[in-house]
Amino acid sequence: MENFEVAIIGAGIVGASVFSELTRKGVRAVLLEKECDVANGSTKANSGIVHAGYDPVPDTLKAKFNIRGSQMYPSMCSRLKVNILQCGTLVVACESGRAGLQELLERGLKNGVPGLRIIEREELHQMEENLADCIDIGLFAPTGAVISPYLVCIALCEEGILNGGIVKTEFGVCKIEKNEENYVISSEKESVSAKFVINCAGVGANKINELAGAPTFDMKHVKGEYLLLDKSHGFVSRPIFPLPTAAGKGILATPTLHGNVMLGPTAIPCEPEDTTVDETGISQIKEKIVLSVQEPNYKKVIKLFAGVRVVSGDDFIIDRFNKTNFYYTIGICSPGLTAAPAIAEYLVQKMIENGLKTREHKLVVRQAYINTETLSKKKLKALIKKDPAFGRIVCRCEKITEGEIIQALNSPLRPKTVDGIKRRVRPTMGRCQGGFCLPKLIKIMAENLNIPEEEITLHGLGSEVLKK
Ligand SMILES: Cc1cc2nc3c(=O)[nH]c(=O)nc-3n(C[C@H](O)[C@H](O)[C@H](O)COP(=O)(O)OP(=O)(O)OC[C@H]3O[C@@H](n4cnc5c(N)ncnc54)[C@H](O)[C@@H]3O)c2cc1C
Repeated sequence: MENFEVAIIGAGIVGASVFSELTRKGVRAVLLEKECDVANGSTKANSGIVHAGYDPVPDTLKAKFNIRGSQMYPSMCSRLKVNILQCGTLVVACESGRAGLQELLERGLKNGVPGLRIIEREELHQMEENLADCIDIGLFAPTGAVISPYLVCIALCEEGILNGGIVKTEFGVCKIEKNEENYVISSEKESVSAKFVINCAGVGANKINELAGAPTFDMKHVKGEYLLLDKSHGFVSRPIFPLPTAAGKGILATPTLHGNVMLGPTAIPCEPEDTTVDETGISQIKEKIVLSVQEPNYKKVIKLFAGVRVVSGDDFIIDRFNKTNFYYTIGICSPGLTAAPAIAEYLVQKMIENGLKTREHKLVVRQAYINTETLSKKKLKALIKKDPAFGRIVCRCEKITEGEIIQALNSPLRPKTVDGIKRRVRPTMGRCQGGFCLPKLIKIMAENLNIPEEEITLHGLGSEVLKK
């Protein structure tokens, strides 16, 4: 049985952040994930916004980790060589919402958000030309940003692997035992042992606590549905929120890193892993979005998707069980994506105070995937000369070449599924959603993974694309 200093359960953004924080400090860590790839829970389907921090109630964990996380993101993205769009965010309202915006401004100032300011109608409509006519006033948060949540998570895992950590996918933890020295953590097929365990299992976090004999908490699940628009309809340049209510941040319009616009999310109570999108959700988005921006062209919708928030009371729950070496994170809903690096920093510091040994470690830097679209003509020509696969376009919509796909297949955390490749280098992400390129992509994957095409899945067993 392999022995580690720390075992992290759950490879969403929180688990991946802890994994990266530990491995950069020379700690031998293992990241255990039940799915066949990382970033498969809440982390794969959210608004991708690094929140500035005006929304959480002051003096809560949400406020503390939101602010620190938002400070950490720019340098973290630069270290990981992933993009971040530092565009700021806007909350907009009609004149009747002035008091609400003022309240939000004051809360933000209390939380320590830098640069917040109220913007009046004329300047506001110059900043964003597609705001709804009724919008008179806005709160601008310059430190708000947009990232690709799954790519950041993947990059953190890759960095952890390059720095000595191990990621075990298809490792659904179903047993945790404690002997004198260590915890033994088991899936149906395999066991590992570790001195420290951190539960970052999102929807599955209560079950993990139960296995470790730690307390469980009341958990609610709230679905957020989205409409994704084609790149040709890029009608906002930063996230545009309505005034938040007790139900959440509301339906927003936000650009993605790659130039699409997302509309959503809804906030509908649901079963733990229900990511379906239905007519009620779509109608809600259509009804509410026009309160902030002009009516989008719905002919430009290329995809519907949903993510599930795990809510446990009003704040994050981050604790250590009974002075043991078992730590847990529960109810990491929004702004969990933003807060994740700060949660990781805090947890690792706590473990160090409780006996975890770190070592001097020279960072092995993660390299970005080559993106042929961003290369100069000269560089692209030289690359194609060296490897002609970079000259063969597979995905026409996103202009992704065979070389880029093969490079992802050989990356430190080798993806095994179509979704895995898609989240790394974007084939099938565009207007045709794989209608044209999927057969080619499957062929390339089968050749490089050395398995029959019939065994290629979208996202794991049971989602095979071709019939045997
Ligand atoms: C609709 C929506 C919009 C959001 N928008 C934003 C936003 O714009 N900005 C922001 O800051 N936050 C946002 N959030 C919140 C953010 O997405 C979450 O806080 C964050 O992704 C939680 O990460 P996590 O690592 O805790 O959980 P997850 O990403 O769910 O990861 C948990 C992992 O644990 C694994 N797991 C579960 N059980 C087991 C087991 N037994 N063994 C092994 N592995 C297991 C799961 O498969 C999963 O991969 C949003 C959330 C939603 C749903």
